[in-house]
Amino acid sequence: MKVLKTIKEMQEHARTLILKGKIIGFVPTMGALHEGHLSLVRQARKDNDIVIVSIFVNPIQFGPQEDFARYPRDLEGDSIKLKNEGVDLIFYPDMNDMYPVGYRTFVEVQEISERLCGAFRPGHFRGVATVVTKLFNIIKPHRAYFGLKDYQQTVIIKKMVQDLNMDIEIITCPTVREPDGLAMSSRNLYLKPDERRAATVIYRTLLEAERLMREFRKPEGVKTIMFDRLRSEPLVTSIDYAGLYDPETLEEIKDYSEKEEVLIAIALRIGDTRLIDNMIVKL
Ligand code: AMP
Repeated sequence: MKVLKTIKEMQEHARTLILKGKIIGFVPTMGALHEGHLSLVRQARKDNDIVIVSIFVNPIQFGPQEDFARYPRDLEGDSIKLKNEGVDLIFYPDMNDMYPVGYRTFVEVQEISERLCGAFRPGHFRGVATVVTKLFNIIKPHRAYFGLKDYQQTVIIKKMVQDLNMDIEIITCPTVREPDGLAMSSRNLYLKPDERRAATVIYRTLLEAERLMREFRKPEGVKTIMFDRLRSEPLVTSIDYAGLYDPETLEEIKDYSEKEEVLIAIALRIGDTRLIDNMIVKL
């Protein structure tokens, strides 16, 4: 397994692979890898000749008060995991190579980037869309893999690829959960034991919302019960959002009698740790 650290080396290597007719599958990550990331890698391994994983904690997708500095980093542990999955190459770029002094260009996907997490993390999805565009230009993959754990991100990336005519197939993969239902996340490492136990309220609330929806309770009523459940957990410090949304526009749903699919989504803080989760319900 190769590890390339400069954009120039990565671009040259990608060009050689393409000239040899290789099909490249790409999994962008911020590292501190867990089974959620590895599920994307395994899918990429099945579908492509070459699997490339990037590890880059992207500074421009973090707000000034967010956890960029303390975000977990473990290149050595990540390398062992990726080698065991048969990954061909890790791209591990340097921040100054990605964003040199004088960097000026950003990619913005309007409207859907401002909803849900975007309303609470201004500039976050602009940072995501920009770094993913840069990584696509550097690695030139045929397919790229994203987890539905970050549902809004998948909608934004698909829209960006469509609008900017990027010739890349976007593959989405299901959320991988801990045995008690908590969605795997690098940020779960921040949770103290009592917070970790409290975090199960998120998945329990999604399941309850799904059940209420199937009884065709009104979206407003489902939302109220979701907030009640989440607030009943004392270690939940704040709720950014919880409710039912259109899976394409990400707008809040007032009436789902006409909908085939509904997105149930939650973002909250336990202690200082921001956690998100979601579920797509087919009606
Ligand atoms: P991150 O390192 O958090 O930027 O995540 C890299 C990729 O892994 C993104 O496409 C995430 O959606 C995906 N991912 C993270 N956690 C999970 C999970 N629990 N299940 C499936 N995919 C995940």
